[in-house]
Amino acid sequence: MHALLPPPIRPKITYKKIAERDWAESHCDLSIWLIEKNAAKTLLKQCRRSPELIREYDRLSRRGPVAALRLSADDRSGSILCIFVKNQDSTFARLQAAAKSWKEAASLHPVSVALATFGLADSDEWLDAMLAAALAGSALMPQYKEKPEQPSVKSIQVLTDSGAKRFASTEATHDGNYLARWLTAQPPNLLDSHQYREALQALAKQRGWSTEFFGVKELDKLKAGAFLAVARANPHSDAGILRLSYRPRSSKTKGSLSLIGKGICFDTGGINLKSHKGMYDMHTDMQGSAVAVGTLLALSQLNAPYAIDCWLALTENEIGPKAYRPQEVITAANGVTIQVVHSDAEGRMVLADTLALAARNKPDLIIDFATLTGACVQALTERMSGAFSNRDNLRNAIEIAGRNSGERVWSFPMDADFDTDLDSTIADIMQCTMDNKGDHILAARFLNRFVPERIPWIHIDLAAANRSGGLGHVPTEITGFGVRWAVQFMQHHSFAKLP
Ligand SMILES: [Zn+2]
Repeated sequence: MHALLPPPIRPKITYKKIAERDWAESHCDLSIWLIEKNAAKTLLKQCRRSPELIREYDRLSRRGPVAALRLSADDRSGSILCIFVKNQDSTFARLQAAAKSWKEAASLHPVSVALATFGLADSDEWLDAMLAAALAGSALMPQYKEKPEQPSVKSIQVLTDSGAKRFASTEATHDGNYLARWLTAQPPNLLDSHQYREALQALAKQRGWSTEFFGVKELDKLKAGAFLAVARANPHSDAGILRLSYRPRSSKTKGSLSLIGKGICFDTGGINLKSHKGMYDMHTDMQGSAVAVGTLLALSQLNAPYAIDCWLALTENEIGPKAYRPQEVITAANGVTIQVVHSDAEGRMVLADTLALAARNKPDLIIDFATLTGACVQALTERMSGAFSNRDNLRNAIEIAGRNSGERVWSFPMDADFDTDLDSTIADIMQCTMDNKGDHILAARFLNRFVPERIPWIHIDLAAANRSGGLGHVPTEITGFGVRWAVQFMQHHSFAKLP
């Protein structure tokens, strides 16, 4: 296994039917019960340890509304953690509450955990959120320490009548999200464009995906000048576009999806160098590519019945004597010429050629992920990501997938008249404007020039990729945002209903 890939261990997950009255009391160290708030006392009365539970509930309720209560183990079962919640319409609210509950549970350092609900109409949705939070919260991030922290949770038992199939996508999206977060958290001296590619090639081998790499030489032949302009200052010539291909087992494929990711392994800003604060986290500027790979992993684990190609633009954006400069005119692979304005707008440059390359295969849908603009963060904060599409009729589905997955996206306009802001006197298009106004929209209009009109395309500007304190069920600053959204979107997309 490649050292840059996450360890293949995660808690063992089992699903158990609810049979008896005291079903929630398993042989686990800790049982987490999510209980309907308004019927809390009535429900507690039905449990084996009801006298103790009611006594504790009454004691706590004298201080105010009870959010949670804890009971230590007795001779028949482990500890119990009761969390009082309401039926919820919002997946995001459920995920957020689940993360809070998991934090409390994790402080008890359980080795085995049971998850159950009591009196909740949306029981499976709560279990999905709780399982997602438990998996995300117990998955360790990369550590390079003499004594690294060890995972404590070894097994999770989910008490549900629905069975394992109901939670297949919860598990798969966790695996995808964890892969994305793990890769993104790697230090830039270890995960450079060379090592990153090797790690992804190893992963592809493990998963049975085929790979193709377009290195500097091949990209030169393809006249991918926009990508090569960014890679020019690299001290090595390992940059390139990596393609990972998944094909379903059945020969009756229902369509094809291309996932595109921005993989800038470190973004110095280039010759328009960033400040030290602006550069601090720039090893995470490859998160779009990690999310694309994470999505590929999740969809292939779910045996998606369509072909998926994942196109990853892997390079650093370095400074050096060869660095590309403002006012250069660059020709992209589809022949469009670009007037360079700012070397730190490298994401749209590498994506331009990657989109053009992916489009040659005429996929039925393209989705790209990129930590692309500060303007998108200005507009949305880090709670949501921005969505753009060349198809108005996808807008509803894009936002519904956001609400249902809990990874919320907000659609921005893609009207053609924005293009005049990028008019250039010397080239076909300007890379960006000098004043940054509406840069998230202009970046999307820029990318639109590299996607043929006939191909439906969705661009996700990952404003929510990094958020202090985490987001939803994810406790780490690097959120891996996008995998849950994409899996949810594809589950309901017309050409590609998952089995
Ligand atoms: Zn940049």
